[in-house]
Amino acid sequence: MMKLRQNVPLALYTTFGIGGRAHYFISATNFAELVSAVRLAKKNHWRYFVIAGGSNVVFDDKTFDGVVICFKPKDGPCHWQGPSLTVKANLPLAKLIKTAISHGLAGLETLSGIPGTVGGAIVGNAGAYGQTISDCLTRVEIFDGRKIKWLAKKQCRFTYRESIFKSNGWLILRAEFKLVTGDKKALAKKSQEIIKIRTTKYDPSLKCPGSFFKNVLVKDVSIRRGGLAKIDKQKIINSKIPAGYLLEAVGAKGMRIGGIYVADFHGNLLINDGHGTYRDVVTLATQLKKLVQKKFGVTLEEEVRYML
Ligand SMILES: Cc1cc2nc3c(=O)[nH]c(=O)nc-3n(C[C@H](O)[C@H](O)[C@H](O)COP(=O)(O)OP(=O)(O)OC[C@H]3O[C@@H](n4cnc5c(N)ncnc54)[C@H](O)[C@@H]3O)c2cc1C
Repeated sequence: MMKLRQNVPLALYTTFGIGGRAHYFISATNFAELVSAVRLAKKNHWRYFVIAGGSNVVFDDKTFDGVVICFKPKDGPCHWQGPSLTVKANLPLAKLIKTAISHGLAGLETLSGIPGTVGGAIVGNAGAYGQTISDCLTRVEIFDGRKIKWLAKKQCRFTYRESIFKSNGWLILRAEFKLVTGDKKALAKKSQEIIKIRTTKYDPSLKCPGSFFKNVLVKDVSIRRGGLAKIDKQKIINSKIPAGYLLEAVGAKGMRIGGIYVADFHGNLLINDGHGTYRDVVTLATQLKKLVQKKFGVTLEEEVRYML
């Protein structure tokens, strides 16, 4: 049964380990509870946020005066029909990928090792190694605050690390994917290789939200202001300038504010040493953005979501 808890420390629900307390907190394990939690918030005129795996969010140090609703990551079945898989949004992304591979279905394997849930991945159009979750998504079941309905992929307005869900606050309940047939063994091998690379980069004990800033789309760099002239063209991958390259070039590695520091092996990785605060995060992020702006004339944009 859904339980309303009070004064809950949010840092415990995020991989970055940052955040004050939530005045109210609800853990929802299924759609009915999730929808009821949102209805309860609306009825009481409480502000609310939904989180799932908490691997891409940063909360303020102050108490959040509304309700945080956690759509708790939960293992469950993947409904498989031919090349299609339908899953609940709070299914761990890892389970979806593993199931696809076990059926010899390709299209999600390069996302192996990304933490969090299917719903969280859809909101941020998560991706890695040239693939994004939206590539093989066909439709999404949502709750828009009044009704439950299916949206076609086109209606989700996916772009690089963006979707309509980042601005409209609709809840994702289920998702359907259409994959292509692949070689089971080769897919499993690729997945394992990627997980191995990721484990070296992201030691599981690190408190971090993955890459902090988005890579920069070449098309967004102002040619008029000579932005591209200062950039080593060899660093451009798939029409994107890696934020890590820009940050390393301004000496970001190892920079620290309070308990938050930039990894010495990756310029786009902000880590919490266990004593970091939201204030530290914002101060360091602001400094890094200024340095990149000054050297390259490029504005970095956060990939993480501030929940304020
Ligand atoms: C070590 C590490 C490595 C990472 N590597 C990558 C990577 O390679 N590529 C990449 O793209 N990301 C990466 N990330 C970021 C993160 O894992 C992904 O963005 C992930 O998909 C977020 O899922 P989540 O369930 O944790 O979402 P959360 O962090 O809980 O939420 C993210 C956003 O989605 C919303 N949300 C979550 N579930 C729902 C729902 N059901 N309905 C509506 N809104 C919802 C929340 O409100 C929030 O705005 C990494 C993170 C870590 C910690």
